[in-house]
Amino acid sequence: MTLDHATLQFCSALMYGVFAVMFAGLWSGRRKERNLLLWSVCNLFGAAGSLAFLLVPQPPLPVLAASFTCFSGTILFAGAGIRLIDGRRPFPPHMVLMPPVVAAACALPFLLAPAALAPLLSLALTTTALGTHSVMLGLYVLRNGRPSFSRRAGGVALLAYVPAYLTWIILDITGHAPGLQFLLVADQMMNYVLVMAFFTMAEEHARRVLSEQALCDELTGSLNRAGLYLKAGERAAGRPRAVLMADLDRFKAINDRHGHAAGDAVIRAFAERVRGALDAGDLVARFGGEEFVILLADPDPDRAMERAEAIRRSLAATPVRWNEAAIAATVSFGVAVEEEGEDLARAIERADRALYAAKAGGRNRVAA
Ligand code: GH3
Ligand code: MG
Ligand code: MG
Repeated sequence: MTLDHATLQFCSALMYGVFAVMFAGLWSGRRKERNLLLWSVCNLFGAAGSLAFLLVPQPPLPVLAASFTCFSGTILFAGAGIRLIDGRRPFPPHMVLMPPVVAAACALPFLLAPAALAPLLSLALTTTALGTHSVMLGLYVLRNGRPSFSRRAGGVALLAYVPAYLTWIILDITGHAPGLQFLLVADQMMNYVLVMAFFTMAEEHARRVLSEQALCDELTGSLNRAGLYLKAGERAAGRPRAVLMADLDRFKAINDRHGHAAGDAVIRAFAERVRGALDAGDLVARFGGEEFVILLADPDPDRAMERAEAIRRSLAATPVRWNEAAIAATVSFGVAVEEEGEDLARAIERADRALYAAKAGGRNRVAA
């Protein structure tokens, strides 16, 4: 079977173009997921690079340099989308630098080296620079982010460009005709794997964002009740914890006097202060309207009382600023310590009973 070069270049350009349209179409309905847009641009660069080779059969130097720079652009934008999902800067300098390096690697031999040597030197330098770029991204993909099958497959596809280029060069140097055809077919295979990985990573990311939202309280950014039970289960490891149940005092009166927006601001400010008082292994959740449950990894009852007392004092001493107003607020705490083998829900119930005692005792206090 022989596939001529132009047919393969045409298929490459077509494939890149179709994927560019697919990612742009997906992005148009999911504008917040800018990784989809970046991957559309990634494929546009690929289409442009392939089209240049297809339309200009014996490409002069500027066309050659431009199309290799486009291929480096595909790697740059592929990485940008992945880095965005990872919560990192999409365009770090060491990646942005690579397309100009590829352009220079392609052009400089023609400008500086003897004419007989220039084509081979240019080819060697350009493929080295492109290979380096895809290895940099492949290693980044494999070493960072949440491990998943799609991520591993994408990372391996990026690393596979290097053996593909090497095979091409060896076939070319040893005078085997199908060298470039081999490269074009291999390139398409790796692209299919990479694009499948992109689609799957986008879905995995979207699902992860949704499930995080489902466990999070929208007003305060703390966990919600479901989030607390889930995280508490993950971190339990059988060790008892201290449970603090907090309820803002006479909160209805704050709403009545200042309005619900001010009440919201007080709830947010309280959550903020609690978070400021927690250690790394502790958890806080908004349990209901103005009620919070705090789990302390340290189960010592005296220290738990002290921590609750410190938060109580801080709120009582510093009113919450909201617009022009300074809103005085206080909070009551009930404290319990989990017993060996006890359900978290039972411990929370006991903290709640202690909270009632604090309310009955006059509010703005901590009870065990
Ligand atoms: P106590 O000291 O006994 O806890 O008195 P309280 O007024 O705080 O208790 P109560 O349960 O009677 O009232 C709680 C109020 O919290 C009633 C409700 O309108 C208000 N609330 C619940 N959720 C929110 C919210 O998300 N935002 C605001 N602004 N208010 C809320
Ligand atoms: Mg209350
Ligand atoms: Mg309440």
